[in-house]
Amino acid sequence: MSERAKSGLVVSAHAADFVWRAGGAVALYAGRGWNMRVVCLSCGERGESAKLWRDRGMTLERVKQVRREEAARAAEVLGAQIEFFDCGDYPLRVGEADLMRLVDIYREVRPEFVLTHSAQDPYNFDHPLATHVAQEARIIAQAHGHNPRQEPIGAPPVFLFEPHQTEQCGWIPQVFLDITEVWDTKRKAFEVMAAQEHLWEYYTRVALQRGAQAARNSGLKIQYAEAYQRVFPQVARELA
Ligand SMILES: [Zn+2]
Repeated sequence: MSERAKSGLVVSAHAADFVWRAGGAVALYAGRGWNMRVVCLSCGERGESAKLWRDRGMTLERVKQVRREEAARAAEVLGAQIEFFDCGDYPLRVGEADLMRLVDIYREVRPEFVLTHSAQDPYNFDHPLATHVAQEARIIAQAHGHNPRQEPIGAPPVFLFEPHQTEQCGWIPQVFLDITEVWDTKRKAFEVMAAQEHLWEYYTRVALQRGAQAARNSGLKIQYAEAYQRVFPQVARELA
C-alpha cells in the first residue's frame, strides 16, 4: 500500500489572500508531492474587487463568479486544490455549519501545518475572523469527544501569513520560508488575479524584502521569501 501524501491547509478570508501571502509555500509543498488544500471563506466580492465594480453594470453574482474563477486558476497554477465557502465578505460571517464544515476538512486533510491570517488587522475585520475560525476549527478537530468515531487530528503548527501593513497588525516575522525556487510560479499566480493588478508589484517587493532578510538571518543565498508568525512554540530536539 502506498503511503498517503502529506498535506497542508490554507484558510483564506477572500479569494486572493492565499496567493499574495502564502502562494510560495503552497507551490513549494505542492512541488514536493504534498496535497495542498486551500479554503476560501469568501470570494472577496465586496471588499477586494474594486476594479470589477468600476464597471457600472456589474452585479454581485458576476463579481463572485470572476473572483472564483481567478482563484481557481491561481490555485491550479500553484498546484493546490481549492474550495469556496461563500460566507460573504465585508462583512464575513461564519455560521455553525461552515465552522463544522471546516472541522470536517481538518479531519479529512489531516494537515501537517496550517497557514492563515494575522490575529489583528485594523484595516480588515474579515482577516482576524478567518484566523479565529481556522484556529477554532483546528481545536474542535483535536477534541476526542467531537464525532468520536473519527480519529482526532494531532497538533499541526499554525503559521500566520503576512498582513498588508504589518506594524498596525501587531505581526512580526518569525519564520522566513525560502521560495526562490518557486518564485516564477508564484508570480504567474499573481498575474491570474487580474482584478487586483495593483498588488502584483507590491507583493513582488515584499518577497524581495523578505528574501534579503532571510539571507541576512541565515547566511544562505535567498532571493525571495515569505514570512510567517508562529502561534505556538516550535518543538525541537536540537537547536542547531
Ligand atoms: Zn483579504
